[in-house]
Amino acid sequence: MISITDLHKQFHHLQVLKGITLNVPKGKVVVIIGPSGSGKTTLLRCLNALEVPTKGVVQIGEVTVDFSKKVERSQLPLLRKQTGMVFQNYNLFPHMTALENVMEGPVTVKRETKDKAREKASSLLKKVGLGDKLDHFPAQLSGGQQQRVGIARALGMDPQVMLFDEPTSALDPELVGEVLKVMKELAQEGMTMVVVTHEMGFARDVADEVIFMDQGVIVEQGKPEQLFTQPREDRTRQFLQHLK
Ligand code: ADP
Repeated sequence: MISITDLHKQFHHLQVLKGITLNVPKGKVVVIIGPSGSGKTTLLRCLNALEVPTKGVVQIGEVTVDFSKKVERSQLPLLRKQTGMVFQNYNLFPHMTALENVMEGPVTVKRETKDKAREKASSLLKKVGLGDKLDHFPAQLSGGQQQRVGIARALGMDPQVMLFDEPTSALDPELVGEVLKVMKELAQEGMTMVVVTHEMGFARDVADEVIFMDQGVIVEQGKPEQLFTQPREDRTRQFLQHLK
């Protein structure tokens, strides 16, 4: 479903991604861990073309973009449409209700009718446990509820894959579980997911593969039980010890 080949990203003189190659089969969940500044967010942002890679190939579903060649502007929205992105800080529109937040993309980008978009948004908000909060504004919702609206909003675009960038990092500890629960349900339904997180419990429980990134490269990749208990690389071991 996702295939990344020799992906590079440079900001001015800073090489942030130094040749990332990664495949995520349909229905699988990949969790990316690694120290701050290792390039995890940049990798996710390259997958949905919020950042334009310096070179390399990104294929998601039926869309393939080779950034080593001249990229047509029209290719980037095609890539973006394949992905739903959930951000650390929710990024909801503050002046719109939960329902309107979820309807916005389908109406303005996908040109769905308002009736159809409203019906879908309402059922997605029910799915994430917010069926009684459709008319609430973000400021009237807890962080965990806002993030669940964020997940419903991303799903509203009918993406092939879901990308999560530290979705629980801004939450009070008691609100983390409700968001992870929704993510786990999505995984169980067969959604293809790439998740950057510090929640090692979630990684152990839900990930098919865990990737450890450091300094712009994938240092190690494996099943959670292998990577967490018997890391092959010293850098992975040091990082995991640091977390304890
Ligand atoms: P992580 O998500 O692992 O913490 P990031 O992908 O956010 O890492 O950042 C990796 C490196 O890229 C950092 O050194 C960061 O400062 C740099 N970086 C990220 N975005 C930009 C940008 N838009 N311009 C310049 N440097 C950036």
